[in-house]
Amino acid sequence: MSARPVLWMVIPCYNEEQVLPLTAPLFVKKLSDLAAAGKISENSRVLFVNDGSADRTWEIIRELAEKDPRVLGICQSRNRGHQNAVLAGLMEAKDRCDITISIDCDGQDDINAMDQMVEEYLKGAEVVYGVRSRRDTDTWFKRFTAESFYHLMNRLGAEVVFNHADYRLISAKVLRHFADFEEVNIFLRGLVPLVGFPSAQVYYERAERMAGKSHYPLKKMLALAFNGITSLSIKPITLITGFGVGFSALGLILMIWAIVQAILGRTVAGWTSTICIICLLGGIQLISLGVIGQYIGKTYLETKRRPRYIISARTWEKEVRHWIEDDEGSGKSRPDEKSEQK
Ligand code: UDP
Ligand code: MG
Repeated sequence: MSARPVLWMVIPCYNEEQVLPLTAPLFVKKLSDLAAAGKISENSRVLFVNDGSADRTWEIIRELAEKDPRVLGICQSRNRGHQNAVLAGLMEAKDRCDITISIDCDGQDDINAMDQMVEEYLKGAEVVYGVRSRRDTDTWFKRFTAESFYHLMNRLGAEVVFNHADYRLISAKVLRHFADFEEVNIFLRGLVPLVGFPSAQVYYERAERMAGKSHYPLKKMLALAFNGITSLSIKPITLITGFGVGFSALGLILMIWAIVQAILGRTVAGWTSTICIICLLGGIQLISLGVIGQYIGKTYLETKRRPRYIISARTWEKEVRHWIEDDEGSGKSRPDEKSEQK
């Protein structure tokens, strides 16, 4: 039997006592089905991340882990939000597996898409994005706001995959490079594409929550969008400079008009000079703000200390994938990763 990759599913949970008992068995079953189909190793695991829940979520995870060795759990000291919970799980998993799949715990994302995700990985993709093919189950409002969100993000300079949330496969190799992105404000959807490597997309239909209620009301969605844009792009600052130039041009026209009016004697004394000063100063101020903003934006991006480049292959290194099968998830380093590790 040839070696197979060890998969860890990473599942964030926040106040999910209602839905977890329903969905947890489904994740475990998917894991054993994939292993039985010979696609992943028997040593694969389901990792639940409790994001500082106030209800019985953590107790449920502990009970599940006690009953089944394939289930593991980690608990965050407090609620840090969905993105941080997924990140915590991925970082916990990265040295113990070959591939991770992050998925919400409420049963909305179709677990059957995992088969195809693993398939794409075996064919060579290091990142596989789960993309929603339809949004029939969403209300018109949710669909409109969500789709506008993806358009706006792309217009403002954050590269995101359209209609892809946080259901995706990421290989441990990519995660080890991802760990070099040390920024605190994380927006995974925008950051993962920055790491690069071959990627693929898998389409699935999103269902309704199996139980419980959404933790993402409009307010949180807007906060997520704002965080995504401001942590990935400084385009909003460039917009200010653009406004400045636009207003200066307008001001110039207004000034000429005011002077013409003065010459024709259609104004009261002092009006022309006032208008000219307002137009001139308004334009200069906006342009100056924009220029200062550009420097602040650059400084902001520099403070993130992101890696300047990532090497994905070298001719003098074998490119074959060595999986960590039979290591019992011990986190032992792999034969091919010595030269890759920092
Ligand atoms: N979640 C989390 N921390 C939070 C909010 C949500 O870990 O602060 C988890 C939640 O348990 C679920 C996933 O993130 O697994 C998505 O949340 P939800 O289903 O409420 O969002 P929606 O699907 O409605 O956008
Ligand atoms: Mg949900």
